[in-house]
Amino acid sequence: PFMRLGRCIGVLSVAARHEPFSDLDNKFIRIFGNHLTDCIFNILLQQQAMEILRHKATRDALTGLLNRGTIIEMLRSHLALSMRTGRPLSVILADLDRFKIINDTLGHLAGDEVLREVSLRLQAQTRQGDGLGRFGGEEFLFMLYPCSKEEVVKAAERFRKAIAEIPVEFGGNEPSSVKVTISLGIATTEGQGDARMDALLKRADDALYRSKASGRNRVTLA
Ligand code: GH3
Ligand code: MG
Ligand code: MG
Repeated sequence: PFMRLGRCIGVLSVAARHEPFSDLDNKFIRIFGNHLTDCIFNILLQQQAMEILRHKATRDALTGLLNRGTIIEMLRSHLALSMRTGRPLSVILADLDRFKIINDTLGHLAGDEVLREVSLRLQAQTRQGDGLGRFGGEEFLFMLYPCSKEEVVKAAERFRKAIAEIPVEFGGNEPSSVKVTISLGIATTEGQGDARMDALLKRADDALYRSKASGRNRVTLA
């Protein structure tokens, strides 16, 4: 067994075909095994380091969601895919309602906790293969592909309810809770030439603005 830090990271099996191994053979096998263990352990360490770096480079530090650059890259590549296949792609922009008041009355740390909990809930509601990223301070971007108008409206309602229906807890030792809502704006492209990213995001942003202007805690389709 190849042991490192009390863990078995591999096993070397050697068999003698005709005569048993000599003492010298055994010594060599041991040296060879040790050398292999070092090599494998170094590779594992490198892989771990790469994974940590990749995670740091693609994730938002506070919420653990995809960061802005990564979700935009994901959107860009899926837009190209949508153009090729003609299948619909949808985006949702979601923004916490009156979040400044939460910060001002409960403090910035509580605000951070709220952001983390909201992110967890949205992530839990996101279908595998779709993307969710932190787009800005208290704003999130969903990329859903393939996803039609009808489907994305249902999904957005699910996201809205996941936040509005259960108050968010904060304040570890003296827990308290606060009612939080989000407003959402949706835009869909049918993959027929209207798939410019800026235009799509602008339509979603306009729809989000209308959700805000018409009372918040609601979904608007561009
Ligand atoms: P609206 O419903 O119109 O969106 O109102 P709002 O108060 O949410 O919008 P506004 O843009 O006025 O305020 C956003 C607030 O979000 C202000 C900013 O300090 C806060 N914010 C942004 N990023 C963070 C963060 O990482 N942590 C905390 N605690 N607050 C943040
Ligand atoms: Mg807001
Ligand atoms: Mg905002």
